[in-house]
Amino acid sequence: MTVGVIGGGQLGRMLALAGYPLGLDFLFLDPSREAPAGRVAPVVHGAFTDPQPLKWLSRECEVLTFDWENISVEALRKHASGARRARICPPVPALATAQDRVAEKRLFERLGIPTTRWRAISSRSQLERAVREVGLPAVIKTRRMGYDGKGQMRISTAEEAQQAWQSLGSVPLLYEEWIPFDCEVSIIGARSTHGQTVFYPLNGNVHADGILRLTRAPFGPGRWHRTAVEYLTRCLEHFRYVGVLTIEFFVRQGRLIANEMAPRVHNSGHWTIEGCATSQFENHLRAILGLPLGSTRPNGHSAMINLIGEMPAREQLLEFEGLHLHDYSKEPRPGRKLGHCTLVEDSASRRDRLARRVLAQVAPAVRVS
Ligand code: ATP
Ligand code: MG
Repeated sequence: MTVGVIGGGQLGRMLALAGYPLGLDFLFLDPSREAPAGRVAPVVHGAFTDPQPLKWLSRECEVLTFDWENISVEALRKHASGARRARICPPVPALATAQDRVAEKRLFERLGIPTTRWRAISSRSQLERAVREVGLPAVIKTRRMGYDGKGQMRISTAEEAQQAWQSLGSVPLLYEEWIPFDCEVSIIGARSTHGQTVFYPLNGNVHADGILRLTRAPFGPGRWHRTAVEYLTRCLEHFRYVGVLTIEFFVRQGRLIANEMAPRVHNSGHWTIEGCATSQFENHLRAILGLPLGSTRPNGHSAMINLIGEMPAREQLLEFEGLHLHDYSKEPRPGRKLGHCTLVEDSASRRDRLARRVLAQVAPAVRVS
């Protein structure tokens, strides 16, 4: 059985690596000759908007999924209305919602999930109104195509708001209150074609410059997890979702405030490869193929550290006892996710001690609180 994956990045590659033991085959679509998935599976090269390779993928595969959010919903919709077609999971409406920050905010509000105060802005006068009504400090984000903090500017004054307008104002924007959060968390769950659901322990996430650096799990008190599961369930049911879905939250004074959702496997769930009975990648595949979902029981206390911009020497990392290294085979570039490493320990304090030692070598600016 062949799974077609639109996008051949590290997420797709980890999907394939999780699927081979289940006897699955994979076929990727990616424009790049250097796509990380190309090291482990065949890749059809073509633009995500090109109907031809999509048709081809659809003919060759039982089911289509994606590892990248900024693919063309238009092309997918066209494909979905064609004659011979594979199923697309997760559902295209969930992808369309996640692609537009305004649609995402509206969904959270409609489902009673607390989120940040926000305004859609597409003119200077709307910007000025947002500054008055939502207040400062704030963050201005492009509605579409954002990832790893790209297309975002934090502003503290009305002048900075004008400057942000100068550099971002050519496309539709979201104006959002700045949350002085105590921490950030994310919840990852899966829903299968049969409506079975599973949820992973809560992730505690540390970002720097808009990019995830460190995840620790299980994280936070049980009531945070219960609240996050409740909110995620509402989204899963709303879309009659199939596959893995993630919601990121800010936590302020014990309250979870939804930041955004991701209709795919998520960077904050990479620790589940070694840290859980069944990884998020395997459960995504099980979910979309209608197989029973696997246990999300944690194997201990895990930390995942992203390797960003340059790859440390392998010898240096593997020196740490118990460290699991994942090198995505990508060309180094500032701010680029090149790999990650995972630690699984039998107590949170041992895990944090080891994480501090690894971080001191690979990302000294990141603090474990
Ligand atoms: P990704 O898709 O990689 O998660 P993104 O580009 O969609 O990132 P966001 O999740 O919106 O970006 O923001 C990245 C990070 O920037 C957040 O995790 C948080 O640390 C910070 N941030 C974003 N918006 C706010 C806000 N309103 N208040 C406080 N911090 C924020
Ligand atoms: Mg985010």
